[in-house]
Amino acid sequence: MIIVFKPQATEEDIDHVTDRLRELGLKSQISQGEERTIIGVIGDERLLDNQPLSVFPGVESVTPIMAPWKLVSREFQKQNTVIDIGNIQIGGNRIVVMAGPCAVEKLEITVGIAKEVKAAGGCILRGGAYKPRTSPYSFQGLGREGLDFLAEAKKQTGLPVVSEILDPRDTDIFLEKADIIQIGARNMQNFELLKEVGAYDKPVLLKRGMSATVKEFLLSAEYIMSRGNRNVMLCERGIRTFETHYRNTLDLSAVPALKEMSHLPVIVDPSHATGKWNLVAPLAKAAIAAGADGLLIEVHSNPECALCDGEESIKPKRFKELMIDLKKIAEAVGRDL
Ligand code: PEP
Ligand code: MN
Repeated sequence: MIIVFKPQATEEDIDHVTDRLRELGLKSQISQGEERTIIGVIGDERLLDNQPLSVFPGVESVTPIMAPWKLVSREFQKQNTVIDIGNIQIGGNRIVVMAGPCAVEKLEITVGIAKEVKAAGGCILRGGAYKPRTSPYSFQGLGREGLDFLAEAKKQTGLPVVSEILDPRDTDIFLEKADIIQIGARNMQNFELLKEVGAYDKPVLLKRGMSATVKEFLLSAEYIMSRGNRNVMLCERGIRTFETHYRNTLDLSAVPALKEMSHLPVIVDPSHATGKWNLVAPLAKAAIAAGADGLLIEVHSNPECALCDGEESIKPKRFKELMIDLKKIAEAVGRDL
């Protein structure tokens, strides 16, 4: 932290700050310029979380050097977090591809897509049972029955499942039926829901809010981790910009930035990022090249008739071709797929 004093600050003002820092167990490195005095604070700046130094007399500005998040930071943990889902590891050398329909529809459709996903090399089945729809008149998902269909698809294929929770009152059923609990973009700052999933060790896939900064995203992950759950993965799914040609703008810069700032696995969702099936493959490839640890892709056997997000869903055949291309890119960046 850097504390800059006003030109008219007195020696007493400066002593007042250094005394307080000393009381807190921090050291001050004072730089006496011609016009101003600057203090570099040495030590664990987290000790200053509840100490607003900017209100001290004579202080002009306070610039924190350490990030406001702790448990999610690289400073806290140097090595990458690797999350075990059965025999699949997320955050390791192998890139993990999660795929499936936006919404779980009929049992046969779900099982059929799961089989295709598995045959193409996908290793986790995605499917929404509770859908956060913009319009209350749109298909809201099958609810519990949807989770049962996913469980049946898992039974038949062995693929673990990821599904989105909307309501903390459904936690028990998600703990029982899902292998990864998804917190969607719309709930990234639903702090009660974050605290709820933080209370268990069930892996959580946290999606970036559509208008959230990287900093806010990491602080939401911190909410989950601060409750004890260390199994958190971050998912970049596009943000809102002035561009309206596609649904969102994939913030690819977030991938290396998040990897630098945090030890948590980073997943990219090119489907919601673009809202267009024809843009999914190029962005999936770019995501892997940029260092993503995994992908979340919407796959549907009949996108024309899908009850949700058919326009961004790719067919199993295209998914299979994409997996072949992704393997080459993964190898080029020293990863397996
Ligand atoms: C989803 O993955 O089904 C979904 C609704 O995504 P997002 O929260 O990113 O919009
Ligand atoms: Mn969708």
